[in-house]
Amino acid sequence: MLMNKVVIVTGGSRGIGAATSLLLAQQGYRVCVNYRTRQQDAEAIVSQIDQAGGIALSYQADVTDPNQVDQLFNRTREIFGEVTHLVNNAGILFPQSQLKDISLERFQTMMNGNLMSCFLCCKTFIHQNTLGGAIVNVSSIAARTGSPFEYVDYASTKGAMDSLTKGLSLELTKDNIRVNAVRPGFIHTDIHADGGEPNRVEWLAPQIPMKRGGDPAEVAQSIAWLLSDEASYVTGSFVDIAGGR
Ligand code: NAP
Repeated sequence: MLMNKVVIVTGGSRGIGAATSLLLAQQGYRVCVNYRTRQQDAEAIVSQIDQAGGIALSYQADVTDPNQVDQLFNRTREIFGEVTHLVNNAGILFPQSQLKDISLERFQTMMNGNLMSCFLCCKTFIHQNTLGGAIVNVSSIAARTGSPFEYVDYASTKGAMDSLTKGLSLELTKDNIRVNAVRPGFIHTDIHADGGEPNRVEWLAPQIPMKRGGDPAEVAQSIAWLLSDEASYVTGSFVDIAGGR
């Protein structure tokens, strides 16, 4: 069992990443709340953690950039010690479009934002880790559905993330590092405004078996469980958090 648990949550300034940062800090992790643009929001999460007696720092890094990923891990390690846990949560979504109208540039940006970032953070995590630990990748049920007529580019990145999760989990069993993923469905966050539909979760709720969208804190609970010692025999697994979808 690791005594000093240090976690980087990518994209911790809002939504699922913010909820996950708060929960992991409550559970005793030292948390690096990574963000790309929303400094104030990330700092507000760190203040909330401080006030509750937890330990956290915020760190600006674009996780699509290898140098910035190195700096993110180096700084976290300098302040808190070896990074033992990683949540690859940072992600982007663009307005709805059919594949035939998606530009090459948009597709590449999507791959970089959702998949390359995960690859870079996993690789950097592995190189600095000696103690073992766990990684959780935040995928999506879009990996299963393909999101036709809306977000095939996004869904493709999440499908590839699932393959990465499976393959990497098997590579790392010898190093005592578990790798799993969560696949959220419709969760109440601001990402849907970026996708062109701020009220997406509300209007789709009747089509969800449980008749409601999910809360970021409900996703955070599954992420925290997969990172924890309670999930010590779980690797290469996927938890759908989608109200029955
Ligand atoms: P969100 O509210 O839009 O938050 C996204 C976070 O990612 C922000 O903190 C953002 O930072 C950060 N980010 C984006 N690109 C980054 C980069 N290159 N480097 C560093 N940080 C970056 O999204 P969310 O809804 O919480 O989603 C979180 C994850 O869950 C994503 O991977 C998403 O695909 C997945 N997911 C969400 C849903 C849903 O319904 N909400 C469903 C399935 C899967 P800044 O704000 O500082 O720029």
